[in-house]
Amino acid sequence: MSTAPLIPSDLKRGREVVLTLEAFADRGKSLARVAGPDGGRGYVVFVAGAVPGDRVRARVIKRKKGFAEARLLEVLEGSDLRTEPRCEYFDACGGCKWQHVQYPAQLAMKGEAAVSALTRAGLDLGAADVRPPMGAADHDGSGGVYFYRNKMEFSFSAMRWLTDWEIASGEAHDKDFALGLHVPGRFDKVLDLKACYLQSEWSARLVNGVRAFAKRHHWAPLHPREHSGYLKILGLRTPAHTDDKMVNLVTSHYDEERMAAFADFLKADFPEVTTLVNTINSGVAQTAYGEAVHTIFGPGLVRDRIGPHTFEIASNAFFQTNTVAAEALYAVAKDFASLQPTDVVYDLYCGAGTISLFVADAVEKVVGVELVEEAVENARASAEANGVDNCTFVAGDMLELFKPELIDEHGRPDVLIVDPPRAGMHPKVVGQIAHLRPERIVYVSCNPQTQARDLAMLQEAAAYTIEAVQPVDMFPHTHHVESVVGLRLA
Ligand code: SAH
Repeated sequence: MSTAPLIPSDLKRGREVVLTLEAFADRGKSLARVAGPDGGRGYVVFVAGAVPGDRVRARVIKRKKGFAEARLLEVLEGSDLRTEPRCEYFDACGGCKWQHVQYPAQLAMKGEAAVSALTRAGLDLGAADVRPPMGAADHDGSGGVYFYRNKMEFSFSAMRWLTDWEIASGEAHDKDFALGLHVPGRFDKVLDLKACYLQSEWSARLVNGVRAFAKRHHWAPLHPREHSGYLKILGLRTPAHTDDKMVNLVTSHYDEERMAAFADFLKADFPEVTTLVNTINSGVAQTAYGEAVHTIFGPGLVRDRIGPHTFEIASNAFFQTNTVAAEALYAVAKDFASLQPTDVVYDLYCGAGTISLFVADAVEKVVGVELVEEAVENARASAEANGVDNCTFVAGDMLELFKPELIDEHGRPDVLIVDPPRAGMHPKVVGQIAHLRPERIVYVSCNPQTQARDLAMLQEAAAYTIEAVQPVDMFPHTHHVESVVGLRLA
């Protein structure tokens, strides 16, 4: 191995190299810059699992014209930004890729990612109040970098992935049964998790209890290659603000006797469970959605609160997975919207209407638009249950719906709050917004790249000034960042 400065021609696939990482890059990887043939330092190598400041030994696995990718083999000198991962499954599990990075560094990186996406798209932040990223401790003071998810889906598999330390332990392992999370990039292999810090200690105990019960009764887990087996997914919902707890056992078919036995087991060993549902998914996909949902006991839903409102959440309903962070996010959106009592607000891509309800008390009325019919039904039910009578929800594709007819029917918006999926908005939707020219726009995004792209397109078509930017971390230990941008028509 040479210690001379690397040039890209050294970066052949399969070759081992020593790299010093300089910066975080997309998707939680870190990057090293190496000398080009001309001596410039323009060539970039991405290494997953490495941290800026690390000196590492890595193997080149991909070499492209503009960049290469290398697999981390050994950390020769660890960065100051590192910390000991809490979870023993960290190396193999895809759930929390950044547990080895100190939280303040994670947060700084997320803030940087959100803001640099905007500036790289050519957006002018000169007049904007660019706020430091809001982290888990800022949401409610609890510092919840662990146990922040209210929903988990653990997979069953007849193909267990053994960690290095499980193999090294020399113990005999049951390789035909796993209940846990998938190994990244493997649809078939599942880690048999005895611990997980994403939801709660209780959830981990429940997972272990259900595994033992299923093995005792010889219930077959899904065989991902043969498409056989009974058990598919163990879904858990544990709301932040109530003691409701839902177990959703997803199976290949309905078996009344088995469900009765499972219900008895839960009632005896986990009396905290308030409702058990059995989702039937006879297809090949290992998803928690299926053709039927049987409520075995309890109401078949859980309740959680965001702001003053209570939401009833069914097993297959969409709901923000980090309740406390969602509240913080919505508060930012509401603040950036500078709401007036006479305002007509459109909440676009509104999901189950949680933002609509959150802002409803401050304005004249809210119109929510959402593709998924069930989410719209949930939104209507939640509005009614909470006594909110100034929200209207419309189901359909934004591309089809967001047209003059909709505006004629519901009124011109003073404010648009948009919260599209990762892909961002359709260019035609951006065009429609530019044409409508609402005075204020709040763009909530889970993908700063598409947010920046859409805003650049919007600014080209209409004179909007970016007033404020607030990155929010809703998912500690992942590379995900939420970004709220407030704009005003100049
Ligand atoms: N604002 C909500 C949900 C945001 S997630 C909340 O805070 O909970 C984005 C939502 O956009 C999803 O509910 C998704 O179903 C919806 N969506 C995706 N594509 C859409 C489209 N073309 N038209 C309307 N809604 C769409």
